[in-house]
Amino acid sequence: MILNAKLIVIVLIIVLLLLFVFISPVSAQTDSLQRSLKAGEALIWYMHHSGWAVKTQDHFLIFDYIEDGSKPKNATLLKGWIVPQNLKDENIFVFISHAHGDHFDPDILGWGKAHAHITYIFGWDTPEFSQYITLGQPRAKLKLEGMEIFTIHHDFDNIPEAAFLVMVDGLVIFHSGDHGCTGPVINPVFKDNIDYLAQQTQKVDIAFISQFGSRSGDSIKQGDLYTMNTFKPVITFPMHRGGGEDRYKDFAREAQQNNVPTQIKCATARGDQFFYANGVIADLIKGEYDE
Ligand SMILES: [Zn+2]
Repeated sequence: MILNAKLIVIVLIIVLLLLFVFISPVSAQTDSLQRSLKAGEALIWYMHHSGWAVKTQDHFLIFDYIEDGSKPKNATLLKGWIVPQNLKDENIFVFISHAHGDHFDPDILGWGKAHAHITYIFGWDTPEFSQYITLGQPRAKLKLEGMEIFTIHHDFDNIPEAAFLVMVDGLVIFHSGDHGCTGPVINPVFKDNIDYLAQQTQKVDIAFISQFGSRSGDSIKQGDLYTMNTFKPVITFPMHRGGGEDRYKDFAREAQQNNVPTQIKCATARGDQFFYANGVIADLIKGEYDE
């Protein structure tokens, strides 16, 4: 009898341990996804390089997400991966700034098979994607399911590229794509674009800004300073350093030295999660990405 009782306790402990190991990452993700958000609140996940997922009150936005590396079987948001089947209750809007492989992965177009509420928004016009929303016309504006979307455009790398300003659920979000200016003098196209977007909004809550500086030189460039000084975002996330996330700290340090009027937040690894509410980032949940 006593032996049986001991055996039952041991089996129970093993079962509980297995549940903890296998269920807890999913639970953490599910808890986050089921969290009801108010206007002005957002859950933000760093999805590697320039990829971000942002859940707001009624929308789920995904920016420049690519499937870089091999996707683990138990992939979750907290591991830095989009699994459309896990986002069935979300109204998903996927933004793609330009065609470079570090910003656009054609595999994401397959998500529509697993998810009924998904809208793709391309920052350039091409017949190849004519069945989706394409915003290639200069400074496009679009009202879409409770959102207002503004684009700016450039061809600094000789292909059409966009950056997005999205007003959604009480938030204003800027994603730069590769809209950058690394020279010592501000490029007039770049400056006009930023000035134009600044005229469209009273505030920017969250800015995702690509970091193009090198370790041998400055991490922060004139264009970054101009964007942050003009938008005065409440929070700025440097990005575009997938695999070299430690360099975001260089950007943050140099931004502080330049007294930029924004708080810089740095993702440390794929899957890092942030909660934004009432103008501040509350807690950071470390991502669960393992190589
Ligand atoms: Zn890029």
